[in-house]
Amino acid sequence: MTKKRVLSGIRATGRLHLGNYLGMVKGMVALQGNPDYEPLFMVADLHAMTTPFDPQILKKNIREVVLDYLAAGLDPKSAILFIQSQVPQHVELAYLFSTVVSIARLSHLPTYKEKVKQYPESNTIALLYYPVLMASDILLYKTNSLPVGDDQLPHLEVTGEVAKKMNNLYGTDFPEPKQMKTEGHYVPSLTGEGKMSKSVEGSYVNLTDNLETIKTKLAKVPTDSGRGNKAPEEGGVHTLMTLVELFGGEKKRKEYEKQYQRSGIKYQGLKNELAGAIYEELKPIQEERKKLEKDPEYVEKVLREGAKKARQIASQTVVEVKEKMGLL
Ligand code: ADP
Repeated sequence: MTKKRVLSGIRATGRLHLGNYLGMVKGMVALQGNPDYEPLFMVADLHAMTTPFDPQILKKNIREVVLDYLAAGLDPKSAILFIQSQVPQHVELAYLFSTVVSIARLSHLPTYKEKVKQYPESNTIALLYYPVLMASDILLYKTNSLPVGDDQLPHLEVTGEVAKKMNNLYGTDFPEPKQMKTEGHYVPSLTGEGKMSKSVEGSYVNLTDNLETIKTKLAKVPTDSGRGNKAPEEGGVHTLMTLVELFGGEKKRKEYEKQYQRSGIKYQGLKNELAGAIYEELKPIQEERKKLEKDPEYVEKVLREGAKKARQIASQTVVEVKEKMGLL
């Protein structure tokens, strides 16, 4: 039986945070032990260029993501780790796909509108093109389903449309990929607004944060009086409750929700307990990362082999599509 390929990518725009970890990496790592799956982990460096970037920082961030992936449990023996720009077929297939995607479809996507608002000076073609490149990332490997966070759902829809159009027009056999929902498919921001994101300062806890840093970050989460009819379903308190559930279980969240309705919550106690629970989960990842930082040759080797394997699969798809589209 052929294995199901599952791909996920993280933009090289900073260190990994709890949202990336719970929304995606943890789910991918869990698939490694499953003989039915072949997980591919991509460092999305080309996607990192869709918003303003500094070349030196980009270079550093690519390393950070590689180390974070490996430290979080990526096993190069059963998964493929590669850097997007080292597999040129991503750009090649994206160009071919761009012939079936309209500008209007892309310009109405929520993420595009948000980014333009965030960086009005950088309303570039690369930013608009992002979902086309993402469709290429996914379909190059004929991925059926992928553990992505909810923020990527509109892009996944575009990918499905591209697959359908390509299949109808040119007789390709692309699957229409679906989201594989993980327990942390939407990790809210520490600011209480929107999702946790690398590109929003103050919104995240990094996988490399120590206990003190986690405490300091949680201390800044906006709260309320701690008491009321019903625990809020948005804002900072909602973020805390979500994190309590993700790191302490549903029972713990229910206990705090009851407290909210009865005696009231003392947020300092909740935040300290939560910081401890988060750190417990991150500690082994941080220990592993320290070892990896001392072994750059091993990391290089993993990346070289990963790119080679990814190129092998990707080039087959591109040859197939070029032929079907009438290219010689
Ligand atoms: P960021 O917005 O932090 O730069 P990326 O765009 O690099 O994140 O996303 C990498 C992966 O992590 C994607 O699969 C995305 O869906 C997931 N992800 C990012 N933020 C969150 C979040 N807050 N909750 C759940 N998943 C997330």
